[in-house]
Amino acid sequence: MIKVSIRDITFKGKEIDQIVPKEAIGLTDEEIDLRSPLTVHAYLAKVDNVIVAQARVEAEYGYSCARCLENFQRPQVMEYHFDFPLEPDAEYVDLGEEIRQEMIMSNPARILCKDDCKGICVQCGANLNTEKCKCK
Ligand SMILES: [Zn+2]
Ligand SMILES: [Zn+2]
Repeated sequence: MIKVSIRDITFKGKEIDQIVPKEAIGLTDEEIDLRSPLTVHAYLAKVDNVIVAQARVEAEYGYSCARCLENFQRPQVMEYHFDFPLEPDAEYVDLGEEIRQEMIMSNPARILCKDDCKGICVQCGANLNTEKCKCK
């Protein structure tokens, strides 16, 4: 959870700067391969009966290339916007759950280690980015 007390959200809003381990928002390795904690910067404000939040989340993602299968990691910066309608007796909002869902939804299924990844040779399995194929 990334709990933000509604009482702390004053007329100036509330800024948050936190380093959050992925476990704290319930992300598992099966959902996303994360190689670092999440750096969360957020700004929350109260607008009528809604808490609006702007969040920037930075984390080091682990991937395996869709073309050459190489394992690599890459930092990602994500910008999210959330609206929390204010329940009459709510004391806090949980940014963590919203971030978790967005991260899972926006995690690409297919990613390349680099745009011009040469892939692997279908015959000998050589990684053509790093090796010369001996087939020819
Ligand atoms: Zn690749
Ligand atoms: Zn080959």
